[in-house]
Amino acid sequence: MNILAECKGAKRIGISGHVRPDGDCVGSCLALYLYLTKSLPDADIKVFLEKPADIFSEIAGFDRINSTFGEQETFDVFFALDCSGDRLGEAEAYFLAATKKINIDHHISNSGCGDLNVVRPDLGAACEVLYDLMDKEILDKDIAMALYIGMIHDTGVFQYSNTTPDTLKRAAHLISFGFDFPRLIEETFYQKTYLQTQIMGRALMESIRFLNGRCIVSVIDRKTMDFYNVTPKDLDGIVNQLRNIKGVNCAIFMYETGVLEYKVSMRSDSCVDVAQVAAYFGGGGHMRAAGCTMKGTFHDCVNNLSLHIEKQLLENALR
Ligand code: 5GP
Ligand code: MN
Repeated sequence: MNILAECKGAKRIGISGHVRPDGDCVGSCLALYLYLTKSLPDADIKVFLEKPADIFSEIAGFDRINSTFGEQETFDVFFALDCSGDRLGEAEAYFLAATKKINIDHHISNSGCGDLNVVRPDLGAACEVLYDLMDKEILDKDIAMALYIGMIHDTGVFQYSNTTPDTLKRAAHLISFGFDFPRLIEETFYQKTYLQTQIMGRALMESIRFLNGRCIVSVIDRKTMDFYNVTPKDLDGIVNQLRNIKGVNCAIFMYETGVLEYKVSMRSDSCVDVAQVAAYFGGGGHMRAAGCTMKGTFHDCVNNLSLHIEKQLLENALR
């Protein structure tokens, strides 16, 4: 697919990504926004996202993100990035009403929801999919930085097993544009505020191991989030920290989103395919990082997840 050829003649172009946008989502949406704005100066181009974390405010175009959505608008071309249409949240209406729908993603759980689909589960980040689709002559420092941020977030700074030699070749080209990548990694990936660190400490301290220590779970309820005055964005990274624990094959982190409702994040190693577990409960993601929303008490949720995880641990042990 040639992005610019597909947008030829389009007067109104929209871009959006998934709810609770992460680094890859913000990076890919802004990289495409910058790329299209630069290449198609006469088109009216809009980018819609739920308000992203402030750490991403250095990415060019951040202040152009539309988080209020507003009334129904019709676009000639609408891009859904880093997700399928049903995870666009309020932007889904724009996507469904668009004349041409384009879906660019890397989630194994996405079977493609557009008129045109480029879904590459073999790539670590949606930003890598976009990089491959972009004309390299048009890339500049701002676009390169946006793509790079998406890549570091979804590959855990090139540590996770979704990192390939081609990931590093793409990143090598991107850093040649000369942005301050050590500072970006530090400030967008590793650095936490004091309150974020405190609530992480609490989640770690109150975590519970089960299935002989191969699984670990922790939960933060609404009351605790209010006490520390944090929002869900401040809980990023807790599940990764749980997964770092020696002997743990599968880590689960949950936070309360409503009455008897939890947002669930899972991380695993090669023993458990958490995308499968999440998909069973209506969510999705990648083999080693996935999520879903579940109803019930905390214990109901853990019991239900545990059945699926245990089954996989047993099956994989037999292989
Ligand atoms: P996280 O745990 O960091 O929120 O998400 C891990 C991965 O799973 C990400 O790729 C994210 O897009 C995906 N994911 C998380 N929650 C959901 C969900 O409710 N539905 C789907 N389809 N994917 C999810
Ligand atoms: Mn992604």
